[in-house]
Amino acid sequence: MATLEKLHSQLSVPSNSRVLMLLGQLERMNTEVMLRDVETARQVTAKIYHLIQTQERSGKEVMSKGSSGMEVILASLENSRDVQTTLNIMYILSELLTVGRGRRVGVFVSKGGTGILFQILILASIEIPPSEELMLQLHALLAKVGPKDRTFGLKARLTGALNITVNVMKQNLQNTKLLLPCLQVLRIYSTNSVNAISLGKNGVVELMFKIVGPYSKKNTSLFKVALEALGALLKSKTNARRVVDSGLVSVLLALYLDWHRNDTRHCCMLIRKGLLVCLRNITNIKLGRKAFLEADGMRILYNSSAECLPVRTLDPLVNTSSLIMRKCFPKNRLPLPTIKSAFHFQLPHVPPEGPVAQLYSQPPGVDDVVDESDDNEELEAETDTENDEDDKEQCNLNDDIETDLNKLHPKRTIGCSFEELKVYQTFFSELSEDFQGYNFEFLKSASPTSSSAYFFSSPSARFTRPVVVPTAEAPSPKQIPHSQDVCNSVKKHQTLSSPSPSSPQTPLDLGTIHLIKNKDKKEDTNIPTPDGHTAPPSFCRTPSQGHMMEQELSHPLECLSLEDKGNQNAEAGSDRVKNEESPVNNLRHIQSPLLLGGFPIRRAGGGGSNVGSDCGSDGAEDEGGEGGVLEVPDTAQLLPLHDPDLYVEMVKGTESVPQYAEVAYPDYFGHVAPMFKEPLLERIYGVQRSKIFQDIERLIHPNDILDKVVYDIDHPSPVTEENSESLKFNSQFESGNLRKAVQVRKYEYDLILNADINSNHYHQWFYFEVSGMRVGATYRFNIINCEKSNSQFNYGMQVLMYSVQEAISGRPRWVRTGTDICYYKNHFARSSIATGGQKGKSYYTLTFSINFSHKDDVCYFAYHYPYTYSTLKMHLSKLEAMRTPQIYFRQDVLCETLGGNTCPLLTITAMPESKSSDHICQFRNRPLIFLSARVHPGETNASWVMKGTLEFLMGSSPLAVSLREAYIFKIVPMLNPDGVINGNHRCSLSGEDLNRQWQNPNPELHPTIYHTKGLLQYLAYIQRAPLVFCDYHGHSRKKNVFMYGCSVKETVWQSDISATSSDLHEDLGYRTLPKILSQIAPAFSMASSSFVVERSKESTARVVVWREIGVKRSYTMESTLCGCDQGKYKGLQIGTRELEEMGSQFCVALLRLKRLTGIRNHQHLLDMESDIIGTHTKPVR
Ligand SMILES: [Zn+2]
Repeated sequence: MATLEKLHSQLSVPSNSRVLMLLGQLERMNTEVMLRDVETARQVTAKIYHLIQTQERSGKEVMSKGSSGMEVILASLENSRDVQTTLNIMYILSELLTVGRGRRVGVFVSKGGTGILFQILILASIEIPPSEELMLQLHALLAKVGPKDRTFGLKARLTGALNITVNVMKQNLQNTKLLLPCLQVLRIYSTNSVNAISLGKNGVVELMFKIVGPYSKKNTSLFKVALEALGALLKSKTNARRVVDSGLVSVLLALYLDWHRNDTRHCCMLIRKGLLVCLRNITNIKLGRKAFLEADGMRILYNSSAECLPVRTLDPLVNTSSLIMRKCFPKNRLPLPTIKSAFHFQLPHVPPEGPVAQLYSQPPGVDDVVDESDDNEELEAETDTENDEDDKEQCNLNDDIETDLNKLHPKRTIGCSFEELKVYQTFFSELSEDFQGYNFEFLKSASPTSSSAYFFSSPSARFTRPVVVPTAEAPSPKQIPHSQDVCNSVKKHQTLSSPSPSSPQTPLDLGTIHLIKNKDKKEDTNIPTPDGHTAPPSFCRTPSQGHMMEQELSHPLECLSLEDKGNQNAEAGSDRVKNEESPVNNLRHIQSPLLLGGFPIRRAGGGGSNVGSDCGSDGAEDEGGEGGVLEVPDTAQLLPLHDPDLYVEMVKGTESVPQYAEVAYPDYFGHVAPMFKEPLLERIYGVQRSKIFQDIERLIHPNDILDKVVYDIDHPSPVTEENSESLKFNSQFESGNLRKAVQVRKYEYDLILNADINSNHYHQWFYFEVSGMRVGATYRFNIINCEKSNSQFNYGMQVLMYSVQEAISGRPRWVRTGTDICYYKNHFARSSIATGGQKGKSYYTLTFSINFSHKDDVCYFAYHYPYTYSTLKMHLSKLEAMRTPQIYFRQDVLCETLGGNTCPLLTITAMPESKSSDHICQFRNRPLIFLSARVHPGETNASWVMKGTLEFLMGSSPLAVSLREAYIFKIVPMLNPDGVINGNHRCSLSGEDLNRQWQNPNPELHPTIYHTKGLLQYLAYIQRAPLVFCDYHGHSRKKNVFMYGCSVKETVWQSDISATSSDLHEDLGYRTLPKILSQIAPAFSMASSSFVVERSKESTARVVVWREIGVKRSYTMESTLCGCDQGKYKGLQIGTRELEEMGSQFCVALLRLKRLTGIRNHQHLLDMESDIIGTHTKPVR
């Protein structure tokens, strides 16, 4: 026997160890001897026990590495049939296993000790009555080794030990000494789910309730263990059901309350926590939640938690209580008639399998706001911190990697004939233009061209020719306009726009700005007086609506003429405005919305409750007479691309589905980035918890809840309540998307966002106006129908606010603001119709609090810096005006969108030096750079980055000159104008994400994508595929700016697919541009960039342009919506200045790229690129 030899060999070593000698003696007693010579066995084991008890050394010798002491002890235990000997051996084990921090227990378990203990337990239970001491020692040992034995529960069940323990407990309920180790063992048994069910059947749940009693200073350790066992048992739904059926939920609550009240010194936290854990597990089942509510659980836990809040050590109780309350909070429906977007857009055709067909296929009368489901999803952890989305994403990414090598190889065929593509030739006239009719003398003078022309008026405009853009299906001339038509219509607008009034160019002196009164502006920017904006029908009047007007005029106070004030202000400066004695007048001054004259207002909403009416310019003029003119801060010096009058002109040409007739002040005034830093907001401990408690109070104190609808685009109310203390809301302007506002308490509002048009979800972006605020109050706003499971609002991001009072005081700007910001799952149920079939999902709340600094202000809130389509058109017009004769700038209309807006396409390069064939040749052969942005409307930061790029490209710096001479830029600055205009977050009017349509864009439903792809296919066909393609995006869950690119090699590295060496031989050029950016752009992070091709991204611009057009450097550039955690801007939120800088640094990086790729020697080029990209190309696995 190996053990024997081992021990002998050990003993043969000269040793004076008594314990080892005794062990040797024990080993030599075989089964037979043990049974025969009981006395010797008792003596030997007693001596060993004595030695181990008294000499630490002895225990070490038995347990030393290489010793077979444990085997000998276990063999003797197994063979012993004498209770005293068995007890002695268990005393020995108990001594041995108490020391050694688990290693000795590990040895015991690995030698099969647990099984032997269970065998002895079975044998001992046969004795009647069983030896109490033996039972005590057995359970004490089992409790000690159980946690270290992974199969403990299974072994207990298979040997039949479960019931023995239970029976011992049942017979010894008063014997706490024996009961405690039994409970400790039971607690371990119960963690096994099969055991839990079996124990439940045996009445153990009820047994635990017999043990746990009201507050007492005695037996607390017993209670604690019993509760832990009960908590484990109640994880089984059958057991939870058992408790509910026996009416024990109220017993648990009463016990909790009793302990809460009496344990004033908080010595029994674990018992209180144990009771809560039981409740937590019971409320995992629907019946448990019902019983909890019926037993007044919400009030009990709410009140007790409120009392615990001041004591930080009681946080675990508050957190668990909060978790239970959130789970049991009855799921509410959103207070909406339907979750379908409030506005519907009739598509030219509705693909039967598409999202719009699905959306509108439900039979009438189906309530899509909630469904019957009550599946309870897993709630997040009990702590105040959030689940980490990025971890989740990381897992998903690995599943998402493209492993089909065929899909990683370039597609060789373009997929359409040159005949089809030839129509795009017209957008590339620079590639064939010979400039023979052009006077190059112009180039010698550097003066800018006249700035009065907005569109197509530059010399380059001659290149724009009519184009018939093809569609796969027969195009109707209405859908596919000729760019000439667009040109005409634009010209018409131009004539509409009266020459810019020559307002005095007072420089914007921050702080002491002079307000300019300009009566000439009246026609464009009439300001009607009454609170029209909360009552849409009333603010657009025609003579036929005279009665309404009279009604409003009958409130003379509201209609104070503001012209006089304006004049005073003009003289007195902004201080006068701030110190305005009668702020009510001032309120009327700015509260009303800016209206566009001459445009019909018609509500095209799903509600359809508003009658169309014309808002004639006459009516508007009348109003102007009453309302006066708003003073516009003069930002011309600081914002060269901004012009309020021009903005209003642009809005007039913008087609929105709701036919908006108002202009939001921030877009009108413009935004001057503040000079101060805006650090990431530090989260205050317990914010989320206190917000959730306030939400729970709605249920506890329902009488405190106002529940007053103050804004509702589904049911616009024509009557505006006077002297109301409620805030007024509005978002009937470009990119606005507030659907409903409900005043919950005096200073708290629930806000509901509209879904993307022709969709029932994608709520994230927001932009709305608030007025009627009080100073000194803290307002809480809750956007209650958010969908993402986490948000950067939990990690330092603040909302953006724009104050009109600040603007007219010389500080026209969006600022990061809001305190107590957090984002958490709420109690509003999401219909499975909007979750892709997933049941039991909830919405999320974004909450933030605001203290307004000005009385009678009009403030705007937005998810990120707004950038409307009209803003883009204004910027393009200004940029074109900035053009010098050296710049070749062309603005074409790529196509018309579904909503009837034009999609601009820009061409920017340098004019050829002369009309000599060499120069013309150099001009035509410049590599192309293709840029696009804003396919996702909610990612407004992409437009600010694009603005930075465009301003740089049109600039006069030597770098800009070189850049223009190096490349031809083709830019689609806004791929989704309709989405932007209508306040969508993600989609176009087709209800689809346009950045998932690139593989097979539909010319009718996705015209901007279809034609942008057409341009690229044309270029591929004529062998002029761009050197770089980059689509600008925004990222809502990550910090910094970074790029996604495409690499076969890096994709293969990330996956397990085997690839041939040719797959792994790849030009590393795709890394050059992001690497340069990480060196020169402070916000850019190479570490956040990725070059893996994901399956879910196979129809994005980046992947399709890479694979189908063959552009190696095809990228998505993602800019954070939040801020940076590295580089110069570490710890700061991102602003428009940083975003625009990113756009200009992108240009600088392209110039550096040119210097590298311009080198003819290809190998040399590769070396240089390798130098730049360094060693960062090793696989990361
Ligand atoms: Zn995006």
